[in-house]
Amino acid sequence: EIELKNIHKSFINQGKQQSVLKGISGEVEKGEILTIIGPSGSGKSTILSLCNLLQTPDEGELYVGGKEIRDWDVRNLRRYVGIAFQSGPMMKGTVLENLSLPMQLQGRTLESPQTYMNYVGLSEELLSREAKELSGGQRQRLSLARTLVNQPSVLLLDEVTSALDSKAAQEVEELILSINKDHKTTILWVTHDLAQAERVGDQTWLIMDGQLVEAAPTNHFFFEPNDQRTKEFLHSSR
Ligand code: ATP
Ligand code: MG
Repeated sequence: EIELKNIHKSFINQGKQQSVLKGISGEVEKGEILTIIGPSGSGKSTILSLCNLLQTPDEGELYVGGKEIRDWDVRNLRRYVGIAFQSGPMMKGTVLENLSLPMQLQGRTLESPQTYMNYVGLSEELLSREAKELSGGQRQRLSLARTLVNQPSVLLLDEVTSALDSKAAQEVEELILSINKDHKTTILWVTHDLAQAERVGDQTWLIMDGQLVEAAPTNHFFFEPNDQRTKEFLHSSR
């Protein structure tokens, strides 16, 4: 479903070129959950941003649903690939307006918003409330509901539970797992929470300094990592 071939990406920061991804290659199967871990600034979010064309690769090839990223029409790609961040929806307006945004962008109206609210465990009565009045956990559920409106094949998740208390985080985690199960959604899931990465992943990647240090089935990754840097990272982060 997703394939990266020798992906490079640099940014210019204060006049200096900074190489952020230094040749990343890897694959994610349809319906698989990939968890991506690594130190702050290592390039994890940048990988996600390439997968829905918030950024373009400088070098290498990136296939999404069998098609090279540069051959995708951005609008179609963003229906195929949903993304959710830590902060949840930031748009002003009601919950219904936030939920309907993907449809509104296409000049359509959202049929049965209640279905989406129910699916993510939010009460329909919240539809008329201002989105900014929701709790962190409710906002995160709304953010996921909004990505589901497009029925994405791929979901990119960037630290979606890290701003939540442990109960809300657990509930949102369970919701994501049920999305994966119900819709066979392929998920790329960046998290700082190693226990979470181990719980939810089918496959895990460790990114350090723009390089893919280790990619392995999640059990294998946590029980018997191959690379010395993985051992040290797991050790120092627990
Ligand atoms: P964190 O765990 O803190 O979220 P990360 O692994 O997600 O870190 P990235 O956000 O991918 O790291 O950033 C990697 C590096 O690229 C950082 O040094 C960052 O400053 C730089 N970077 C990312 N996006 C941009 C951008 N749009 N313009 C300039 N530099 C950027
Ligand atoms: Mg990040």
